[in-house]
Amino acid sequence: MLDLHVHLLGHNDREANQGTIRAFLDEASRRGLKEIGFADHDYYWDQMNFPLIREMAEDYPHLEVRIGLEAEYRPHEEGRIKNLLEQYPFDFVIGSVHEFDGWAFDYPEEEPLHWQKDADELYSRYFEIIALAAQSGLFTTIGHFDLIKIFGVRPEKDILTLADEALTIVAEKGLVLEVNTNGRYKPVQEFYPERRLMEEIQRRGIEFTLGSDAHCAENVGRDLEEAGHMLREIGVQSIVGFAKLAKVSYSLD
Ligand SMILES: [Zn+2]
Ligand SMILES: [Zn+2]
Repeated sequence: MLDLHVHLLGHNDREANQGTIRAFLDEASRRGLKEIGFADHDYYWDQMNFPLIREMAEDYPHLEVRIGLEAEYRPHEEGRIKNLLEQYPFDFVIGSVHEFDGWAFDYPEEEPLHWQKDADELYSRYFEIIALAAQSGLFTTIGHFDLIKIFGVRPEKDILTLADEALTIVAEKGLVLEVNTNGRYKPVQEFYPERRLMEEIQRRGIEFTLGSDAHCAENVGRDLEEAGHMLREIGVQSIVGFAKLAKVSYSLD
């Protein structure tokens, strides 16, 4: 098992110090993870402490400790992200869309607006931005691929039609998609992406990774066994981690 999506800094409510790093690494070891990947939000850049993570990782010889970033993708801000990526030799980079057209849509107070909007338009605009993120060439991974479902609003059109172009670009670019278990704790109450998308992703030969999206140490590795089990059920035999942007394959048996 591996967990390539954890937030050491939470929502910037915690420091990157020996105590907090140790709590995350201890939980990862306790759960028997092979690989843990820190992926704090790019907007907390100034609070990150990669050298301290590297130093402390030496106390955990059985755990591969990776350093990544969860970068907020907005069209026309590719330069800003590129600049950050040049400043550190990341193992992996998650491109995520939590906002489009100036609307940070995943905050709880935004839920009513989701229900007011045309669901098909909501989904197609979201996946358009995901397609641009995938096209940008900045990322190894696209985060929580169907985050737009967060409040349980479902499109009328087939999800496979709505996501088709984004999936085509993800496949062309060799990007990886994560099963992000955090969706279960949101109003939609299921993993990202939904099972039907998982099956389509597998059918297209796109590779998977796993992430808990833990914002505190207790949630590191949460539900990843089950996510791995779901992947096996749909015929996925291996998942990928990353070292210096190169894929590392792990068998799922
Ligand atoms: Zn995210
Ligand atoms: Zn995240």
